[in-house]
Parts: sequence; C-alpha cells; structure tokens
Amino acid sequence: MRRTVSPSPELVDADPADLESLRKVLAAADPDGRLAPVGMQSIRIGADVLGELPDSVSALAGPGEVAALMDATPMHRNGCDLKAATLRLLGERFPVVPVVVGKDGREVHADENVIRAVESAIRGAGCVVAIGSGTITDIGKEATARAGRPPLIVVQTAASVNAFSDDMAVILKDGVKRTVPSRWPDALLIDLGILAGAPQAMNRAGLGDLLAMWTAPADWYLAGALGLDDSYHPAPAAMLLDQGRALLESAAALRRLDAAALEKLARVLTLSGIALGIARSTAPLSGTEHLVSHLIDMEAERSGRRLALHGAQVGIASVVLSVAWQWFLESFDPARVAPDACFPRAEALEPSVRDAFMPIDPSGRAGQECWNQYSRKLARWSACRPRVEAFLSEWPRHRARLREMTLPPERLATALREAGAPMRFSELDPPVAAETALWAFRNCHLMRNRFTLADFLFFTGRWTDGLLDGWLARAREIGGGL
Ligand SMILES: [Zn+2]
Repeated sequence: MRRTVSPSPELVDADPADLESLRKVLAAADPDGRLAPVGMQSIRIGADVLGELPDSVSALAGPGEVAALMDATPMHRNGCDLKAATLRLLGERFPVVPVVVGKDGREVHADENVIRAVESAIRGAGCVVAIGSGTITDIGKEATARAGRPPLIVVQTAASVNAFSDDMAVILKDGVKRTVPSRWPDALLIDLGILAGAPQAMNRAGLGDLLAMWTAPADWYLAGALGLDDSYHPAPAAMLLDQGRALLESAAALRRLDAAALEKLARVLTLSGIALGIARSTAPLSGTEHLVSHLIDMEAERSGRRLALHGAQVGIASVVLSVAWQWFLESFDPARVAPDACFPRAEALEPSVRDAFMPIDPSGRAGQECWNQYSRKLARWSACRPRVEAFLSEWPRHRARLREMTLPPERLATALREAGAPMRFSELDPPVAAETALWAFRNCHLMRNRFTLADFLFFTGRWTDGLLDGWLARAREIGGGL
C-alpha cells in the first residue's frame, strides 16, 4: 500500500459536511496561511436533504422574494417532478419567483447574455436558490456576484463536476471557455435521492473528472519543484487522495446506484471543489488530462459537434496520462538529459505553436491566443534553468514524492470499467475521432500558461510521437485510450 502525501490523519478524513472542523484541519495544515478560507456557510449531504431547503433559506435570506434559478430540463426525485416539488416546498413559506433559462430548448451556456438576463431577473431578491448542475450553478454564482450578492443556495442535481463547492465559474466568452474568479455559494444541499434520479452518465462523469486527482496534483508539484508555479501546496490534494482511493473501490457499487457509493462520490467531488477554492487555482485538479480535454472541446466547437460530458472525457485522458506518469517515474533518467538542449529560443518555437492550432482555426486567432499564453511559460522556463538543473540532480527525492501522488493506470481504468463509464474516446457521446484525440495529446502543452508533465517531457525531448504511441498502446491493453 502506498503511503499518502498527507502527514495528518485529520486531513485524510476531511469532512466537507462539517465545515467548522474542516477549517480547523486546514488551518493546521497551512500554518503560513497561504490557502484561501472556505467561503461557504453550510454543506449538507444526505438522503432527504431537500426537505431542509426552507430552513436553509430562512437562515440566510434577506427581505424580498426567493428567486429559484433553473433550466428547462425535466428532473426527477423518487419519480416526482423535482423542480415542481422544490417550488412547492419553497412556496409554502416564501414568495417565490421562478427564473428559468433555456426555455427555447437550446443547450444552456454560462455566457454573457444569459448571465445578464439572470442578473436583472434576480435583482432585489432576498435569496437565490439555484437548482441544477454545473452550468446553472456557475450562472447563479456570476449573476448573484454582479447583482449585489444576495445569499446563494445551491441544490445540486447531479454528481457530475466539482463546480458546486468553489468560488470559480466557467464562463463562455467570445466562444472560448474561461475559468474566472467568482463567489462561493453560501449553502450547498446534496440530496442523494436527487443524485440517484440524475442521468447516470452524469454521475459517472463525476467519477471520471475525479481521476485527475492522480495526475493533476503531480503536475502541480512538478511545476512547483521546477520553479514554474509558486502556488503549490500539498494540503488540497492530501485531503482528497485517501477518500479518492476508497471511491475507486466503490465504482461497481456506484453503477448499482448504491446510496453509500453515491454519497462517497458526492463527498469527494465536494471536497475537490473546496480544494480548488482554497488553492485559488484549478491546478490541484486540472493538469495535462484537462488540457487534452480542452483541446478536444475546441475542435468540437469548430466543427459544430456537440461536446461530450467533460468528466467522461477527462477520465479517459487521465488513464492515458497515468500511463505517461508511470513511464516517467520508471524510465526517466536525468543523466541522459542534456540541459543545453532543453531551453529553446522563442523564435524557434513560435511557428510550431501557431501551426498546432491552424487545423481548428485557419484564421490564426486561436494560434495567436495560445502563443500569447505559451510564450510567457517559455520565458519562465528559460529563467528557471538553475531550478531545473537542481531538480535533475535531486531526481530520486522528487520521484519519491511524485510516486505518492500517482496510481497505476490499471487502477483508474478498472474504476471506469466497474462504474460503467466510457473508457475509450470512441465510446464517448458523441464519439471523439482517434486523430482528434491524438492531435490533442500531441499539442496540449502548447495551449496555455500552466506547466505540466507534458511541458517537462517536451523540453527534455520526451513528448514525442514515438513515446505517445507507446503510452496509447499501453492504455489500449488495459481497455482505455483511443
Ligand atoms: Zn474537470
């Protein structure tokens, strides 16, 4: 059994539904106060938590109506209409105004038009209750942040993403998805009956998104150790990994909609959102595997293809990346790295970055945007040469730390299989073509400023088509990848 990264048993048992204790545990793990405080007042997870909604509103609401923000998708709890039931429940005690987005039947995006419309609809409300999944929650965060910050209560309707318990929002701006700083919800209600009634592909996608906890924190550590990211902190991942391992063991039970397994999934997802909020960054759970997923999404948007579920895509990419991590930790030999060859000049790389994005945007705008981000990373990498050389000379120590943060790819692949989640890009809905996925793996490191394993391997001459083919072949052997 591998040792966990966390030295503190309390951190390992972090309970998102007991925020008072969680704050104490985090304070002990962060004596220098580098982490942001958890800005939520209450998180409730359980079998009949929806019934607590009126009391939750009473505790938080100011004068004015309760705005109930939702989309037009039918949702069910124990066979009944969830939204009608929630409106009835609220209506028994408060004046309620439903604010419904996406009535025209189109997919709801958290874009400027929608956020502005919601902002004006909720202005003056004493409290906003957002009933929905990640997108509705993000719209609720942004609209309330702009409309005088009325209390925000989120009723989570699927265990699909970790947006419910952090202070960031994914906003669609000029056709590009960006994660922006936003606000924390004040209260989060996770009713297990509602999760059980959600489309199962969404809950499985939540599990897939969480597989990044065995690749992204290692990326973040690597960036910190090389001097590329000063924000690295061990606590956000340390509070996730043990409970994450227990969740992998429950994957088959999750498929059966076992209540205890659903609760585990909801708890770890909630903790993972908190991990991002306190880190003030998505880095603890968004590394190379997310870059691959973002590139696949960019290609889909260009070709007018519907996007596959985010977490489903991330889960598949995580299996491949964990093969790459395993290769790195077993086969990387610092003695064979020639430092003089690892620091290319900007002029030499600029054409490759621009060319990489021509297939999705022949106008060159996407290439320009990526080069703007990438050139900053390249400049910092060059300035970090002494740290890079120190890292190479201390490789055994770093390798030991990185081993604690990763898992064998078989463990991740087995969890996806047992949960009934897609394991190959071709099994996604809609399927992602092999050449698109391959393009995304090849070029993911060129997309943005965040430093990951892909950058380190690229600069040391090891993010090559030959090695990539080998990792994908290994992923195929265990049922995953292309
Ligand atoms: Zn994600």
